[in-house]
Amino acid sequence: MIDVKLESVSKRFTRSGEAAAVDDVTLTIAAGEFFTLLGPSGCGKTTTLRMVAGFYFPTAGHIHFGEQDVTRLAPNKRDTGMVFQNYALFPHMSVAQNVAYGLKVRKVSRADTARRVAQALTEVHLDGYGTRRIDELSGGQQQRVALARALVIRPRTLLLDEPLSNLDAKLREETRTEIRRIQRESGTTSLYVTHDQAEAMAMSDRIAVMRSGQVQQIGTPREVYHEPANAFVARFIGRSNVLSLPVTSAEATRVGVALPGGGRVTATAPDGHGLGEGDTALVAARPEHVVLVSPEEPDAIRGTVTGVEFTGMATHVTVDIGAGADGDVTVAAVDVPDRVDVGDRVGLRLPAERLWVVRP
Ligand code: ADP
Ligand code: MG
Repeated sequence: MIDVKLESVSKRFTRSGEAAAVDDVTLTIAAGEFFTLLGPSGCGKTTTLRMVAGFYFPTAGHIHFGEQDVTRLAPNKRDTGMVFQNYALFPHMSVAQNVAYGLKVRKVSRADTARRVAQALTEVHLDGYGTRRIDELSGGQQQRVALARALVIRPRTLLLDEPLSNLDAKLREETRTEIRRIQRESGTTSLYVTHDQAEAMAMSDRIAVMRSGQVQQIGTPREVYHEPANAFVARFIGRSNVLSLPVTSAEATRVGVALPGGGRVTATAPDGHGLGEGDTALVAARPEHVVLVSPEEPDAIRGTVTGVEFTGMATHVTVDIGAGADGDVTVAAVDVPDRVDVGDRVGLRLPAERLWVVRP
């Protein structure tokens, strides 16, 4: 197992002053780690992955596989296994022929090929499917064939670009669990690309959240969820309420803020937040931590319900709290009374221990 290092990697497709597609990205994927690039469409995920694969060379910066500098190494010299959204399987070949492809290219003997293909199909739970044609398989099975084909060459790194995008919701969840199981068993250092934050959270050891070619934050799913580095990450991961509130007191890692409708609350802030009395703090509150209370409750934030959404697990209530903050606050609660409806006046309480100050 090897680690993969990106050091100040940038990619510009044009010579003009246009923004870089990937802008000064530095990160290390630990040996055996499942690492995800997460961000909205166009933020540079695929371009980053293609530089790791060798399909693009960086405009600046360096990429290392372990001790080896691979920045300008041809793709076929890198030993990477690739899995794409559209499978990229050969439809006219059997499952076994597809999986064997990389071994044939590498001139592995017939006997070894047969043994390794059988083993790879076992690993992805497709024993006995070797003679099937690709078009006889479901989308999820095809994606597992693609995974077997990528892993059979025992690659140094596994690179996956939105491999679940063509699958329907239920199959997507099943297949993501399968991919993670197979990756764990093979122990291959993996770089995964997705725009789907739930998928990234469920699968990854660590996530790099990207925006406009730049890394916003790198952390475990729990870190990026509970301690988002900035307002973008807070809104992109899960569904945060981000309120602009006047600062009434500031310490190293605690910031007191005034709430709309009276009352004060202390939020946790990252070291070096740089806020002082009179500044405006951005305070992130997760919908599941906001509490719906009576509008008569002292110091409650008061507002009008603009939406009620029953999701099964919880009910999402959106409340317009007017000027002074960002307008809307969404509450996700398990026990919302049936009588709460659009147009109602309600109160909200923000539990201090759950509030987190984010950078703009
Ligand atoms: P993502 O995978 O996150 O959706 P991409 O890496 O595909 O984003 O694209 C990042 C940016 O680079 C986008 O603005 C895209 O238009 C641009 N881009 C990607 N590939 C090329 C290319 N081959 N030539 C020119 N621009 C490109
Ligand atoms: Mg992409």
